[in-house]
Amino acid sequence: MAVTGEKLVATAGMDAQPPPLLRRDEDARAAVADLVRRLGAERVLTHPAALFPYTYDASFNSEAHPGRPDCVVLPRDTQDVVTVMQVANRYHVPVVPRGSASAYSGGAVAHYGGIVVALNVLDRIIEIDADNLQVLCQPGVIHANLNDALAKYGMIFPPDPGSSKIASVGGMTANNSSGMRAVKYGPTLHYVLGIEVVLPTGEVVWTGGEGSKALQSVSGLNLTPLFIMSEGTLGVITQLRLRIIPKPESRGLVVARFDSLEDAAEMTRRIFRGGILPAALEIMDRSAIRAVNIFKPDLKLVECAAMLLVEADGSSAVVADTVGRIEQVARELATSVETATNPKEMESLWAGRAALGAASSLVVPGGTRVGMGEDICVPLKDMPATLRKIAEAAEKRQVAVVLYGHIGSGNVHSAIVVHHTPEEIERAKLLTEDIHALALEYRGTTSGEHGIGVVRRDYADAELGAAVTIMRQMQRSLDPNGIMNPGKKLPFADPAVVGT
Ligand SMILES: Cc1cc2nc3c(=O)[nH]c(=O)nc-3n(C[C@H](O)[C@H](O)[C@H](O)COP(=O)(O)OP(=O)(O)OC[C@H]3O[C@@H](n4cnc5c(N)ncnc54)[C@H](O)[C@@H]3O)c2cc1C
Repeated sequence: MAVTGEKLVATAGMDAQPPPLLRRDEDARAAVADLVRRLGAERVLTHPAALFPYTYDASFNSEAHPGRPDCVVLPRDTQDVVTVMQVANRYHVPVVPRGSASAYSGGAVAHYGGIVVALNVLDRIIEIDADNLQVLCQPGVIHANLNDALAKYGMIFPPDPGSSKIASVGGMTANNSSGMRAVKYGPTLHYVLGIEVVLPTGEVVWTGGEGSKALQSVSGLNLTPLFIMSEGTLGVITQLRLRIIPKPESRGLVVARFDSLEDAAEMTRRIFRGGILPAALEIMDRSAIRAVNIFKPDLKLVECAAMLLVEADGSSAVVADTVGRIEQVARELATSVETATNPKEMESLWAGRAALGAASSLVVPGGTRVGMGEDICVPLKDMPATLRKIAEAAEKRQVAVVLYGHIGSGNVHSAIVVHHTPEEIERAKLLTEDIHALALEYRGTTSGEHGIGVVRRDYADAELGAAVTIMRQMQRSLDPNGIMNPGKKLPFADPAVVGT
């Protein structure tokens, strides 16, 4: 399908109107008063200053269009979330689940007002059952804290977003987060054995079998994945049973530099076709290397067209063998190659990649990185062309962009950097449209891991076709009043239809 920038517009997703049944001001006021009565004023934030931190997430959209909730509920337990649903249904006001609000999608922002449920306060690891390879925890547990706790048992929870120190496991599950290790270990989806979820109607269900400790099951229809990646549009996750695995004994890293993006992609192809499954396979292009050199000149990254970082993990013997094989492939194509197997050397080689989030903004003096068009995913073979075309589009739109990504999964991160002037933001929006159009042209997706929220929802029809109708029907069967995180994930259907 040929999709042009002209046909795909409205990246911000804020032009559509909410369905008419939601949120009249008097309903919202009555709902807040009811919540205060049932839960106590200390559990229901209403002061504008207290609400302010809940008006945005990491996306630029929420910065440009902050969404003000009518109140924020700090639940003590699942029952408090049930109470929220009962009240929201009674007054027809939106409910927006929120973890750490680190997503680049606007998903956790109450753009249509209503009740934000702050799940980060439910942050207990209930049980680590290392012998049965699982943990039971609440949704607000921070990813890095979970892995710190698991380290004592020699275990890890493998998904690893760059936001590890802030992202909650509930948010990761709702967004199906991935990260660098996904090339080998897959996304969060692969590690959720079951969840307790409060449905929009207020019922509480366990998917994956209540009380079950089974690591695999074919019982019933598989509801768990339906809620994973639903971005808070189908219910609130209040407990999770997560799969954990033994921590690999050892790690090793190969860094390879190239004269062309094509050579870097060819190395990626040869790694996989050579029967190697790395634990991370990352690319930084010239723009990313330059950004790091501005931010951390001491690192003295060698300027080149592309740099690959390829990690192997496993037993020491496996790592030694795998690193040797990766190095051999690298030497066939790269202009220079470095390897490391001791943790300190590896850390210093990874330092440039780790600094990229902060470094990107510095490519434009006084500029800021904005979360727009930053997460497309394309077939592996189209990575070089995609990176090149994004760079060309950025030049045409006169916008700075820093390019890097999880090349082992085809996931491109295009960090757009602008001054906050209306002209520059407008150009950044046009570039975002170009990038998303490119993703669809290459038969990829507009978001590989960061989520859809409001910022990418208007591509749903172009990307998913008739399946969107089925998704809406499923939503409506679980959420007859349309209260659950409205306007996220999918564009509003015809309001006349939603309202019936
Ligand atoms: C510096 C940085 C690096 C990042 N790197 C990565 C990366 O490498 N890989 C990656 O995948 N992402 C990455 N992200 C994006 C983001 O951190 C992830 O999507 C993360 O998992 C979101 O978790 P959160 O707790 O912040 O969720 P939030 O932003 O609070 O919410 C995300 C969505 O989940 C819903 N939600 C949250 N909690 C619940 C719940 N308990 N029940 C139901 N719905 C819920 C919200 O309504 C919202 O739609 C990065 C972000 C930043 C800022």
